Amino acid sequence: MRLSYSAISTYQKCPLSYKFLYVDRLPTKPSHHLSFGSSIHSALEFFYNVEVAEPCSLDRLLEELDNVWLSEGYENESHEVQYKEKGRAILTQFYNENVLAFAVPIAVEKRFALDMDGITLSGIIDRVDRLSNGGIEIIDYKTNEKLPPKTKINTDLQLPIYHMAIEELYGTAPEKLTLYFLVPNRQISTRKTKNDVTKAKDTIFKVADNIRSKKFDPFKNPLCPWCDFIELCPLHKDDPVILARAAANGKTSTGKSLKTAEPKAAIEELKKSATEIENAVDEYLELIEKINGARSRLGELQSIIHNYCESNGLASVSGTRGELSREARKTTHYNIDKLRELLEPRGLWEKVLDVNGHLLKKLLDDASSQGELRKIIETAKEVEEISYVLYVKDEPTEE
Ligand code: SF4
Repeated sequence: MRLSYSAISTYQKCPLSYKFLYVDRLPTKPSHHLSFGSSIHSALEFFYNVEVAEPCSLDRLLEELDNVWLSEGYENESHEVQYKEKGRAILTQFYNENVLAFAVPIAVEKRFALDMDGITLSGIIDRVDRLSNGGIEIIDYKTNEKLPPKTKINTDLQLPIYHMAIEELYGTAPEKLTLYFLVPNRQISTRKTKNDVTKAKDTIFKVADNIRSKKFDPFKNPLCPWCDFIELCPLHKDDPVILARAAANGKTSTGKSLKTAEPKAAIEELKKSATEIENAVDEYLELIEKINGARSRLGELQSIIHNYCESNGLASVSGTRGELSREARKTTHYNIDKLRELLEPRGLWEKVLDVNGHLLKKLLDDASSQGELRKIIETAKEVEEISYVLYVKDEPTEE
C-alpha cells in the first residue's frame, strides 16, 4: 500500500473524502489556495536551489513568481491579481528576513519513500538545512493565514514522518523541525522524540488497517465547506449554512448547487451568517485555548506560592500588584452513624433524610441486573431544565 502524509491526514479528517479522492480517484475542483501555495513553494525552491551561497536579487525572485505562477482556481482576474500581490508581499518579507543568513541547503524538495512493513510512505520535504553545529534542520513552508492551535502542531503526523525520512536518508535524526508560516512570518520549531515517532507509526498502521478494511464513514470536520465532494456527502445535504459556504468556496457546481438554485440575495445572507458563525466558533476555540493555558499556569503558580509559604511558615506573600493570604480550608463531612445516634433519640432523624442523587445512582447501577426496579425508578424522573453544552470535537480516530 502506498501512503503519503496528505493521504493519511485526509483519512484522519474524513475517511469518506479519502475514499472519494484516493480510492475512487474522483476529480477535484481547481482551488486558488492550492495554486497559490504551489506557486509560492516553487518560487522558494528556485531561491534555494543553488550550488553557491549567492542569493538572487529580490527582483529576480519576484520575476520567478511570475514564471511559476499557477492561475487555476481563482474567481476572476482581480481575485488573481490580489493574490499575486499577496504572493509578492510574502516573498519580499521572506527575502528581507532570510537574505543575510542565506546558505546553500543540503536539499530542496527532497523526495523520500519509506518502507514500513508493507506500507510505502512517500513525500517531499521543502528544504533540508545544515545547522551550524552540523545537525540537520527540516523546513516546511506553510501559506496558512493563521497559526494552527498548538495541539494540532504537536499531534500532526507530518513532522514525525519527516523525522523518519531524514533518519533513513541521512542516517541521523534531525535536530530541528521547523514549520515556516509565511503569511504571519512566524517559525515554529520542534524536535521529535523516539516516543513521538513510535506513536506516529502506530497511527499510520491503524490508518492503513482501516483503509484495508474499507472503513470509509464520513466525518464532519471544519474543512467540510472546502470539500470537493460535498455534493456526494450524506451528512450535508440538508445543511444550508455549510452548503452556502461550500458554494462561496466554489465547491458546489451541479444542479444541487445553491449558487444556481437559490436567489443571489439569499445566498449572500447565508454566506454572511456562515462567516459570522465561523468567526464565533474560531473566537470561542481561541478563548478556550487561552483559558486552558491560563488554568494550567494558575495551577503552577499556586503550587510555587504554597510551597514557598509552607517552607517559610508564612500566611501571606506580596507581589508588586498586591498581597495573597493563605488560609487552610477544611473539607468536612458528617459521620452518618454518629449523626443518627444524636438525632434519632430527639425525634429529628426523619427530618434530615432526603433523596440523595449519588445514592440513587448507586441504587440504579446496582439495579442494572434488576430491569424491573430500574424501570420503576426511571418513571419517577422529571425533566427540570434543559441546558446545552459546547465541547470541542475530537479529530476522527483511526479505530
Ligand atoms: S463534506 Fe465533510 S463529511 Fe462529507 S465527505 Fe467531505 S469532508 Fe467528509
